[in-house]
Amino acid sequence: MDYRAEPWRDLGGYRGRFVALRPPRCGEPRRPHGQSRHRRGCSGVKTVQAYRFALDLTPTQERAVLAHAGAARVAHNWTLARVKAVMDQRAAERSYGVADADLTPALGWSLPALRKAWNEAKSQVAPWWGECSKEAFNTGLDALARALKNWSDSRCGKRAGRPVGFPRFKSRRRSTPSVRFTTGTIRVEPDRKHVVLPRLGRLKLHESARKLARRLDAGTARILSATVRRDGGRWHVAFCVKVERAERSPGRPAAEVGVDLGIKHLAVLSTGEPVPNPRHLDTSARRMRRLAQRMSRRIGPDRRTGRRPSKRWEAARGQVARAHARVANLRRDGLHKLTTRLAGEYGTIVVEDLNVAGMLRNRRLARRIADAGFAELRRQLAYKTAWNGGRLVVADRWYPSSKTCSGCGAVKAKLALVERTYNCPTCGLTLDRDLNAARNLAALAHKATDARSGRESSNGRGADRKTRLSGPVAVKRQPGTASAGQAGTVPPQGGTSNHRLTKVH
Ligand SMILES: [Zn+2]
Repeated sequence: MDYRAEPWRDLGGYRGRFVALRPPRCGEPRRPHGQSRHRRGCSGVKTVQAYRFALDLTPTQERAVLAHAGAARVAHNWTLARVKAVMDQRAAERSYGVADADLTPALGWSLPALRKAWNEAKSQVAPWWGECSKEAFNTGLDALARALKNWSDSRCGKRAGRPVGFPRFKSRRRSTPSVRFTTGTIRVEPDRKHVVLPRLGRLKLHESARKLARRLDAGTARILSATVRRDGGRWHVAFCVKVERAERSPGRPAAEVGVDLGIKHLAVLSTGEPVPNPRHLDTSARRMRRLAQRMSRRIGPDRRTGRRPSKRWEAARGQVARAHARVANLRRDGLHKLTTRLAGEYGTIVVEDLNVAGMLRNRRLARRIADAGFAELRRQLAYKTAWNGGRLVVADRWYPSSKTCSGCGAVKAKLALVERTYNCPTCGLTLDRDLNAARNLAALAHKATDARSGRESSNGRGADRKTRLSGPVAVKRQPGTASAGQAGTVPPQGGTSNHRLTKVH
């Protein structure tokens, strides 16, 4: 089943808006048996999330979708070339000493400006434009506008994180075909097995859309857009939906759990429960290798000689793509099951602020860490705790969760990775290393509650720079000095944290 609800990550203006109006409640008892987790009547939590369904396209429909995706690419590439040409022209004119007022007029980089430029030229560039929905061209232009904005924001320091490169041309062979519809007829048919999209018409779903259809019927959801794209050899439609979610509370609002992420076990909970790491990539390694060998033995494309790939090479490539998609699906399924369970049960979840991007730069660890999906797990916990009325506490990156004794609070200066059990020289505690770390994290839940008026960082991406300075200091930190303010770093959704930290005690 490939049906998942996820918050939409790429929506200007809707980013992480979780409005919750419930007053803070203290020391809630466990919910009596049989009482519903849904609190109807309360003002709901409004979120934007995606509902994604697999499609069963007929060959004709597939050609139509590919034509639309190609139209998006043509609009993107032509407009990008135009932007570049104008930039180069202005730079050349400046180098000849032309006054600023006499330069070739600059081309605006906003979506409306790009659309205007495209609409003026489309009759020459793409005389076939009438055959595709205008939304197809808009898809490509919107992607370009956002790419240009990201690049310029990154250049002038307005955007945190790694530097963003200048937009590149989309290749027909290498880009993922995708088209997004934001206007026109977008609906789920009453049989819940078909959807209707502009121009493409009635498309059959591979699975039932009942979860979305129920919300649409109840009036708690509104479709903002629909994106059709191919991933892993299969077509999907993703509806971006504005949803009014019923207010919920976790099963045990007063309970907290520390989650220590690792590779041996995917996670160890402070309750003592280890969550096994399924290692899907390792499991499928043999099959992946065989498929890659099969592909390499067949006649692939060669850009130098202009050789086209053989049909059999294309088929082998499809098999490799499907194998990778399967691993990704298995991984996503496992993570969703774990995070749903945790967010549904515990009022407070404490995780470490792992530097996943940094760990991925370690060649020996990268594959395992990417396979475990730490970053995705943290992202899911952040929004699911918000949806369930719980809260997520993210421990400071330099908090010594492994080196601290969960019994007496003594901090070891060194703890080698091979030491799988924690032996405390001060109080004599002997405990599994990961469980010790998880218990330390769980203990942070109280400190974070005390520090709710303390420092708050608002951006997960910005954290990288801030903590680098304080890095070496953490090793010398004495027991008890890991201040609550540092421990109570907030979840990465801007704006939500303030509320969530004060919500549950
Ligand atoms: Zn101890």
